[in-house]
Amino acid sequence: MTTHPTTKPTLTNAEAFARARNSIPGGVNSPVRAFGSVGGTPRFLVSARGPYVTDVEGRDYVDLVGSWGPALLGHTHPAVVEAVQQAAARGLSFGASTPGETELAEIIRARYSAKPFTGPGCRSDERDDDDTPPIRPLERVRLVSTGTEATMTAIRLARGFTGRDLLVKFAGHYHGHSDSLLAEAGSGLATLSMPGSAGITEATAAQTLVLPYNDLDAVRAAFAQHGDRIGGVIVEAAAANMGVVPPSRGFNRALSHLTHEIGAVLIVDEVLTGFRASSAGWWGLEASNIVPDGMGWSPDLVTFGKVIGGGLPLAALGGRADILDRLAPLGPVYQAGTLSGNPVAVAAGIATMRAADAAVYERVAYVADTLAAALSEALAAEGVAHSIQRAGTLFSVAFREGAPRNYDEVRQQDAFRYPAFFHAALDAGVSLPPSVFEAWFVSAAHDDTAVNRILEVLPVAARAAAA
Ligand code: PLP
Repeated sequence: MTTHPTTKPTLTNAEAFARARNSIPGGVNSPVRAFGSVGGTPRFLVSARGPYVTDVEGRDYVDLVGSWGPALLGHTHPAVVEAVQQAAARGLSFGASTPGETELAEIIRARYSAKPFTGPGCRSDERDDDDTPPIRPLERVRLVSTGTEATMTAIRLARGFTGRDLLVKFAGHYHGHSDSLLAEAGSGLATLSMPGSAGITEATAAQTLVLPYNDLDAVRAAFAQHGDRIGGVIVEAAAANMGVVPPSRGFNRALSHLTHEIGAVLIVDEVLTGFRASSAGWWGLEASNIVPDGMGWSPDLVTFGKVIGGGLPLAALGGRADILDRLAPLGPVYQAGTLSGNPVAVAAGIATMRAADAAVYERVAYVADTLAAALSEALAAEGVAHSIQRAGTLFSVAFREGAPRNYDEVRQQDAFRYPAFFHAALDAGVSLPPSVFEAWFVSAAHDDTAVNRILEVLPVAARAAAA
């Protein structure tokens, strides 16, 4: 751990946390930040650059949280910061349309429909050189401010389009914190072992059917029983909020076909995987046969967030024009936002997407491959049972033999090992996600110095996990 020379320590993390708890419930504005499942004092951060973050005490950490996904380029990328500064100087918010919103929508459409850049983490031997997109899934894109809004709007659209009430989701998948989507959700609810949230009416809860992931028989059974009442099916493109759990071979394709058979809308949530699992999200890997047996399907609606805002509040939903055009002002499904398409967030998104070229994805894939291999080696050397879970450039560890395929299996692991692992890494200057149920986020800014630092620390953390 080093001390950042330009930051003058003013208070300790413990003091910052104590003060925060007086004014903010639990001292945090998003639950996982409280370190509830790993214990100890959360780090209060004051700055970040490249692969590093700096806390109030002036300590630097190699960061593997990456703002939970947005920091694909690393922190404070110069092109993004410059774009934000210029946009801010022109106007912080207009409450009117700007050309930048259209430009970002066009970039998202083009990038999601193009074949992904390949890299060490996402190779395709069968890839041809033709750049024709396999299927064009995004005819329209609407910008909102958070992933929660994107999925909430997508399910409202699915219901409005079909005139049906029921929604299907999968256990352990997280789609933000709107009422319909919190049942058996991953992310913070998995971390806190919460089955759902208080404050959601029984009527709302009863309209969400929760099915086990990667289980097509369960899907068929639910569709046979309730098919004519199901308006939408929402699925993480590759689950990454209960740790990473990729879809079984052909699962998404079969789900798409079954969903269409019953006349429902398939919403593929790429808030986390979009423009991160690959340059064309998870769907791009399947559609291009980089993930085998995934071709021949496309989402009706797709949700994005995280990377497309480059660290500012920005998210989107896109998909078929006949569905998206049901949104107001064209159609009867309402969605709006004072800050939707905010010009500063849009500028950050455009700059991020422009900078995210093939070299960025090559580096991100290389870093993910290197760390995933080293993590497995370190745990194996200590005799710790583990499974490294991958989805494109995303990865996480589960402390169990054999890869978990669903939420029940994810919960059958030696999760008690993670706090010691996490704190050994933190003490040595590497900031991991403060929950075993989260993916590790690497960036293109993780240069060899940062990677080597992590490689030195992993055996120490593995030893702590074994104890
Ligand atoms: N969907 C997925 C797959 C996510 O991972 C998240 C957040 O982690 C969301 C939706 C919600 O996004 P936000 O936190 O921006 O509301």
